[in-house]
Amino acid sequence: ILYNQVQDLKGAIRVYCRVKPFSPGQSNAQSTVDYIGEDGNIMIVNPQKQGKEARKVFSFNKVFPTNVTQEQIYADTQPLVRSVLDGYNVCIFAYGQTGSGKTYTMSGPDLMSEETWGVNYRALRDLFHISKERAEAIKYEVGVQMIEIYNEQVRDLLVSDVPVSCTQDVLDLMRIGQKNRAVGATALNERSSRSHSVLTVHVRGKDLVSNSILKGCLHLVDLAGSERVDKSEAVGERLKEAQHINKSLSALGDVISALAQKSPHIPYRNSKLTQVLQDSLGGHAKTLMFVHINPEVNALGETISTLKFAERVA
Ligand code: ADP
Ligand code: MG
Repeated sequence: ILYNQVQDLKGAIRVYCRVKPFSPGQSNAQSTVDYIGEDGNIMIVNPQKQGKEARKVFSFNKVFPTNVTQEQIYADTQPLVRSVLDGYNVCIFAYGQTGSGKTYTMSGPDLMSEETWGVNYRALRDLFHISKERAEAIKYEVGVQMIEIYNEQVRDLLVSDVPVSCTQDVLDLMRIGQKNRAVGATALNERSSRSHSVLTVHVRGKDLVSNSILKGCLHLVDLAGSERVDKSEAVGERLKEAQHINKSLSALGDVISALAQKSPHIPYRNSKLTQVLQDSLGGHAKTLMFVHINPEVNALGETISTLKFAERVA
């Protein structure tokens, strides 16, 4: 029984909630976040309603205070990342509407400043660091792959799996990958909000004593914006994009909640995203989802639907 419980814990799905801080210019803005508890609760308030109806509480593994640093975010992610060096498969997702802070969490606002690095670069730096520490016992090889899923089509942004040996290698590759998205700089933000970007780190370790091989894999996924698109307004390309995004995000939600409920049937085949990640979702793999919300009053509708999605997978 104990063994099973340990396995359950290892397979558990974690959900962390991050609230985007108001910018200095918004210091007087009204917030839809009433309070953030230390127990993983967040209370959302609708300023247009009164009394009991105005408030709703959502519960997650963690809700970070708005002033949380990138370093603190990574500190709570690190155990999962490091388990990849022990042969686990791990998926880390950033979910939320466009502008809620997904890319900030995963990549950070400025590649040139290490202080602001997001989970991606910190994870790779950490993997290289630990693999060096273990170098006398295990010889690790690390490779990265970058893909984009746009309109249910997968594009490889590098030449498949590229071997890397330090963080600088990864930074160089990320630049190449961004260029290969082949859209102008202004269109890039637009495009990135409508496609899923998946950075995959493959780790292969050879035990120098026993010669046994272990393999682990880390997927770092910056998801397309989760906002619902007004069907009466979107037409043509935009409508098609919206439908693809909808389909793949709900397929992801279905897979994760089926896993959380230990359902015998896990519907991986309903989207490209879940097909690509199939080997790293379920079984002994570990999943962490960062859900992002924007506390502005005009984002309330999206905030509620984001938190409902997240509660379903938690
Ligand atoms: P998304 O990827 O979800 O569309 P971004 O990460 O691009 O959102 O964030 C939108 C804007 O808000 C960016 O200018 C970003 O720098 C800023 N931002 C997001 N999260 C934070 C944060 N935690 N602290 C400071 N600024 C943030
Ligand atoms: Mg983004």
